Amino acid sequence: MSATTLPQPYDPNNIFARIVRGEIPAKLVAQNNHALAFHDINPLAPVHVLVIPRGPYTDLLSFTQSASAVEVVEFWQLVREVAQQLELDHHGFRLISNCGSNGGQEVPHFHVHLLGGKTLGKMLPSL
Ligand code: 5GP
Repeated sequence: MSATTLPQPYDPNNIFARIVRGEIPAKLVAQNNHALAFHDINPLAPVHVLVIPRGPYTDLLSFTQSASAVEVVEFWQLVREVAQQLELDHHGFRLISNCGSNGGQEVPHFHVHLLGGKTLGKMLPSL
């Protein structure tokens, strides 16, 4: 049983909202009108980039429920651009979106992790 019910209300003071507003710095990789991509502060792979929408969406569920078509398209276009720009398309990569407490989501602003630059191995330990 999960500890929280999804989706949660959006917290406008979460750390990624502050990055979108330019209140705290981030190592930018790419951006467009509706999305930003920047390096994770605590990388778990040689390439570890976070892609986020600029809009106020707590998680994948609220993004897919409430974002406009152009926001959704530009978000995924930016994921592709980052994969190509950082040459992750040469040998492959992993895309992760943690959602809610069971998913281990720490920052309550929708994001995907783009991980690559080495063989990443199994996705999770076996049950
Ligand atoms: P989650 O567990 O929510 O899927 O992942 C949140 C990610 O955000 C973590 O990998 C963490 O290292 C990263 N992170 C947390 N705070 C900051 C920050 O201030 N700047 C950047 N660039 N990444 C952050």
